[in-house]
Amino acid sequence: MGKVKLYNQLSKSIEEFVPQDPQNVKIYTCGPTVYSYAHIGNLTSYIYWDLLIRTLTLNNYQVNRVLNLTDVGHLASDADDGEDKLEKGAKKEGKTVWEIAEKYSEAFLNDFRNLHLAEPQKIAKATDYIKEDIAIVDQLTAKGYTYETSDGVYYDTSKFTSYSDFARLDLDQMRAGARVKFNDEKKNISDFAVWKFVKPGEDHAMQWEYLGRPGYPGWHLECSTIIQAELGIPIDIHTGGIDHIPVHHTNEIAQSEAAFDKKLSNYWLHCDFITIDGEKISKSLGNIYTLSDLAKKDFSPLDFKMWVLQGHYRGTRNFSFSDLAAAKTRRLNWRNRIARLYQDDLTNFDFSHDKALEFVNNNLNSSELLAYIDNSALTMDDWEFVDALLGLDLINSTPNITDDLMEKISLREKARQEKDYMTADKMRDELASANITILDTEKGAIWQYTK
Ligand code: AMP
Ligand code: ZN
Repeated sequence: MGKVKLYNQLSKSIEEFVPQDPQNVKIYTCGPTVYSYAHIGNLTSYIYWDLLIRTLTLNNYQVNRVLNLTDVGHLASDADDGEDKLEKGAKKEGKTVWEIAEKYSEAFLNDFRNLHLAEPQKIAKATDYIKEDIAIVDQLTAKGYTYETSDGVYYDTSKFTSYSDFARLDLDQMRAGARVKFNDEKKNISDFAVWKFVKPGEDHAMQWEYLGRPGYPGWHLECSTIIQAELGIPIDIHTGGIDHIPVHHTNEIAQSEAAFDKKLSNYWLHCDFITIDGEKISKSLGNIYTLSDLAKKDFSPLDFKMWVLQGHYRGTRNFSFSDLAAAKTRRLNWRNRIARLYQDDLTNFDFSHDKALEFVNNNLNSSELLAYIDNSALTMDDWEFVDALLGLDLINSTPNITDDLMEKISLREKARQEKDYMTADKMRDELASANITILDTEKGAIWQYTK
């Protein structure tokens, strides 16, 4: 069993990862709210967690991962006010909330596949767990952790004495900062809704009966519910974005640990945000790019994945199209090294799988691994290992040349020797339309992919 080290939010340091059961490593990834297309900032985190899963798998751990899709209850703000994101999306597009959830869940899973992200063992939709949500609210209420207001059932964070520990929250500061009191009925600034009532006259299509009134779960609840239902706490690793630390994950911990009297997760991993050309990703700046936007500029999802793997999940990253172009070139270079293996009897291979694994075992240090791959000679076996570790689909996307194209290469050579430049050019153009180019090297002509 290899030794994997990870940055654990609980202790704010890098620690050796020790799972409870190496044959059932329980991992939970906070998934997307499915109300619009995922942008490249959202997708960055899933690429880091793909590297985590692949690293653990190659260290012979058996991973059992659950990813949720938030299809209800995520309000536009973390403060239990504002509109439900799904309802907002539905109004904008003139669709039902169910249609919106379906459309963007499909789109997200499509992105997931196009990025060659390892499939989670379970993808859980929040709306499939309403009964279980209600059972947790009942349990919290029975233990005295909740109180009811006119708009929902709230978790009383003053009852959970370690509430501020995880995020090192300064509750006094938060109280002082809350100049505008948005909810008079809340007992503490950090209290949050575990259940929301549909207000009279409110247009909320997704609703369930509880406490004799229509309502819907608070956003944070679904993760506690799904984790307990599908994995059982404590889990080994919980992942998310850095923005989840002060509210979403803090609330998840409060709910789960109060309801079940057990620690929620032994390790917490959070990835930092990316900026684009130095700016925050935002609608007003018009810099929200999806994978389809990248495709329009001739970048594949895997070029983007290569760009993400050049950095690290801890630390802000700046995205630019020139850096993406460099990542694309790197991926093409690697693929052409595979193409070279089809043509040459190469020797002096020096790539070590153990050494490669050491880089990522050290807190997912993929950028050093990438440099090591750049500077080593790999066999086809080694490239298979790289594909298993990085999921860049290098071998599949670099097929050996077909007999038909091989014939065109021979015809071009022959035509050139016979100074029949018309035929030679025609063959070159036909090869170019199949993304093949001919390179004249010391060892003679070799073919390469151009994209
Ligand atoms: P949203 O659907 O807008 O709530 O975004 C879902 C998640 O994507 C957020 O909670 C973040 O963890 C992540 N995210 C959003 N923007 C970025 C970004 N610029 N860089 C990295 N992750 C992001
Ligand atoms: Zn979550």
